[in-house]
Amino acid sequence: MPLQLIRNDITKMRVDAIVNAANPSLLGGGGVDGAIHRAAGPQLLAACRRLGGCQVGQARLTRGYDLPCKYVIHTVGPIWQGGAHGERAQLASCYRSALALAASHRCKTVAFPLISSGVYGYPKAQALQVALETIAEFLSGHDMTVYIVVFDRDAVQVSSKLFQNITAYIDDVYADAHADPAGRFRQLPAAPVGGFAEEAASFAPPPRTAMRPSVAHPGLDAMLAQLDESFTQMLLRLIDEKHISDADCYKKANIDRRLFHKIRSNPHYKPSKQTALALAVALELSLEQTRELLMKAGFALSHSDKGDIVVEYCIRQRIYNIIEINQVLFKLDLQPLGY
Ligand code: ADP
Repeated sequence: MPLQLIRNDITKMRVDAIVNAANPSLLGGGGVDGAIHRAAGPQLLAACRRLGGCQVGQARLTRGYDLPCKYVIHTVGPIWQGGAHGERAQLASCYRSALALAASHRCKTVAFPLISSGVYGYPKAQALQVALETIAEFLSGHDMTVYIVVFDRDAVQVSSKLFQNITAYIDDVYADAHADPAGRFRQLPAAPVGGFAEEAASFAPPPRTAMRPSVAHPGLDAMLAQLDESFTQMLLRLIDEKHISDADCYKKANIDRRLFHKIRSNPHYKPSKQTALALAVALELSLEQTRELLMKAGFALSHSDKGDIVVEYCIRQRIYNIIEINQVLFKLDLQPLGY
C-alpha cells in the first residue's frame, strides 16, 4: 500500500529511509530527533556536523548508522505561530524536499514522523492533513511506499461528527449481530432438525436469477455470464464501465502498481479482502456491487467484523476517500484497506 498510517517508534522502522524532524543546527535535540540520535549512535552526530545546518522546509541526508534503515533524511519543520506565517507551505516543503531526496537515492520505502507536531507546536490534526495531502500528491507521480508513523493514536483526528456517526453505526449493527441468539433464531424459519438454525442463517439462498430455469428472458445470458466472471474480469469490466484508467483506479485504491498488474494479468487472481475492498471503494461501488465483487474473491461483508461495518457505513454514505476511511480504521485500531 503506497501510503500507510501506522503506530510505531520510527527508530524501529525497517525502511530505506526514515525522516528526522530536526532543528536548523542539525546537532540533535529532544523528541523524535533525540530518539533517532540515540538509536543511530554517535556517528550520526558527526555526520550531521559535517552538513553545517539546514533551513526550514529543506532536507539533508546522512547514513542510518546503527539504525535498521539505510538513510536518515533530516528536515526542519516550521515553528507554529498561529498559522498565518506561511507554516503550511513550509511544512509541505519539508515533505516534498525529503521525498525528492529519498527518490534521488532510489529509496523505495520511507517513514515520516509527524513533523513539527511536537515541540514546534503545529496542531496535530492539521499537521497530519498536510502530510497526507503532500505525500499523496508526490505518490501520484512516483512508485514508493511511504509510512506516516505516529506515536499516539490521538494524533489522528477524524471529524468528530463522522467518528460519532460511525461509532453509533457500529454499536447498532455489531450489537444486532451479537444479540441474544434466542432472539435471532426466532426470526428464522423453523429448522428442519433441531439445532440447525445457525446453519440455516448463514446459508443465504443463491441469487434468484441463478435458480431460474432457462426460459426466454432478455439479458439472461448476460446475467449468467456475469455469474461466471472472475474477480479480475469483474474488476476490469467495472473499470471500463466507469471510464477510468487503471492508474486512476489503483492510485485511488492506494494499491501498489505491481500488485494491480498482478491482479490484471491473472484472470484467476484471488486478492486479500482488504485489497478487494479498497478496489470497491476506488470504483465507488454500491453496497450490492461491493458484496458481489468481494464474493468473487471468496469474501463477504460481515456484521461481526467492526472493520466491515465501518466500510459498509462509508459506502452507504458515499464516502469513497480511502485515506479518510483508513484514518477512521486506524483510530479504531482496525486493519486499513489496501493490503
Ligand atoms: P518537532 O520539533 O518538529 O515538533 P518533535 O520531535 O517534538 O518534533 O515531535 C514530532 C512528532 O514526533 C510528535 O508528534 C511526536 O509525538 C512524535 N515522536 C516523538 N518521538 C517519536 C518516535 N520515536 N517515533 C515516532 N514519532 C515520534
